[in-house]
Amino acid sequence: MKRTSAILTSLAIALAFGGTLLSFTIESAATQRALIAQILVFAALGGVIASTALRSRSGRAHAVGAVRGAITAAQRQSCNFSNVAANEQAIESLMELKDYLRQPSKYARYGARMPRGVLLYGPPGTGKTLLARALAGEAGVPFFALSGSDFVEKYVGVGAGRVRELFKKARKAGRCVVFIDEIDALGRRRDDASSDERDQTLNALLSEMSGFYTADGVIVLAATNRLEALDPALLRPGRFDRQIEVGLPDRAQRLCILKLHGENKRFEPDVNLEELAARTVSFSGASLESLLNEAAMLAAMRDDGGIGKRDLETAFFKTVAGADRRITATMAERRSIAAHESGHALASRLLSPENRLARVSILPAGRGAAGYNLCIPAERVMVTKRDMERQICVLLAGRAAEQLCFGDDALTAGASSDIARATDLAAAMVTELGMAGAPAVSLKALSQRCGAQQGAAKQCEELLDGLYAQTRSLLQAHIGALMALSETLIKAEALTGEEATAILDRALSNETQKSA
Ligand code: ADP
Ligand code: ZN
Ligand code: MG
Repeated sequence: MKRTSAILTSLAIALAFGGTLLSFTIESAATQRALIAQILVFAALGGVIASTALRSRSGRAHAVGAVRGAITAAQRQSCNFSNVAANEQAIESLMELKDYLRQPSKYARYGARMPRGVLLYGPPGTGKTLLARALAGEAGVPFFALSGSDFVEKYVGVGAGRVRELFKKARKAGRCVVFIDEIDALGRRRDDASSDERDQTLNALLSEMSGFYTADGVIVLAATNRLEALDPALLRPGRFDRQIEVGLPDRAQRLCILKLHGENKRFEPDVNLEELAARTVSFSGASLESLLNEAAMLAAMRDDGGIGKRDLETAFFKTVAGADRRITATMAERRSIAAHESGHALASRLLSPENRLARVSILPAGRGAAGYNLCIPAERVMVTKRDMERQICVLLAGRAAEQLCFGDDALTAGASSDIARATDLAAAMVTELGMAGAPAVSLKALSQRCGAQQGAAKQCEELLDGLYAQTRSLLQAHIGALMALSETLIKAEALTGEEATAILDRALSNETQKSA
């Protein structure tokens, strides 16, 4: 349990600052529990919902093919480093292995010991599987792939047998790449919920790996999204002792990936990939690919020219928030959702104007959202206490707007995920980051050494209460702007970021004129 909550807090930070800022209003309390989990999954992916579905689909296809037998380079459409954009550093580290795979005897002659295993780690969809396949393709050797979850079976010994079978095939093939995806499924730290089956499988893998010699020309690659969850035994010298990070692309890298996947697509002249790269903060390679594909499908359906700006726009919102659905809310509900979303938008405009408002909508969207507010965060590497506080305020502003406009009895369940995320952030500030109370104490580390986290919950509560009060007064002070946006939203149902920003800015400047 402890582990989960620790991961969730880090996720909350990743979500708030690495991810597209998306506030949902949830339709009904019944769906809340599931939704919170899903939204946190979305957080884990660094802001991209669509890639969850996309990934699990492609992951499964992989596993099925793999169980049936080895996937060799000849059977698959060949793939090489030119199919990978933006991962220069990872490719550079793999170059050496490519040379080795081509002529292992050369390395044996010089007495060089190749790394037995290479671990690719990083968020989902960043191209780890792609890199492994590309390495095999570049070196012109067969590619044997299995997913960690295929190894872990109910019956003790089955997984271990599969490992031995895989390596037997690999040995027979001679020079080759063996790829183990999701290695965390079998190589998890043994302290949490250890199982005999998993241990046996892991041991089989480790002993197979130590049976290779440099002259064999076999490279074992593995991939994981969760480096911290791996058993340290896997990372020891002679095992997966080389680790290559495959991170989320930055703006320039996103442009490279968009260009690569845009090569076979026809765009209208109004399309600007640079602008698209700028707004796809925290998208992975896989989600960029899926975004372009989504747009291409829209264009194909219309069938009257190339992919236009409009298609990309629709695909973008569909990718991050789900497709719009028909509105079914009653008028009273619409008012409440509109106030809630306007609260987020206004707080964001006032507190973090560097984050660009991209869309405000009261149309139901994916995952039971009754409306949403999408904000594209400025790209950043460091997060300050101020940033964290502001983010919490923006999250709480939906609830604050409900309370201001309709009173205590009309509070909705729609604010549940906002509150949960704000609480995660506050907990991280209190227990991990030393951003509340003593600035140089990690209550989390302290509790691991000395037991219970004294007073952490109380501190979180105080922090959240304080920030909520601030948010409420902020909205109260600019209630005219809140109402203006909310009223337009009830009629229009969805506004672009520019429209919403213009309405807010006009109302805000009227206020200053009046008070002057
Ligand atoms: P991972 O294994 O890290 O989860 P994948 O390798 O399965 O990610 O990536 C899924 C798809 O996303 C790839 O097949 C490719 O279409 C696209 N993709 C991801 N990263 C890149 C990249 N750096 N360059 C080009 N395409 C990419
Ligand atoms: Zn909200
Ligand atoms: Mg993969």
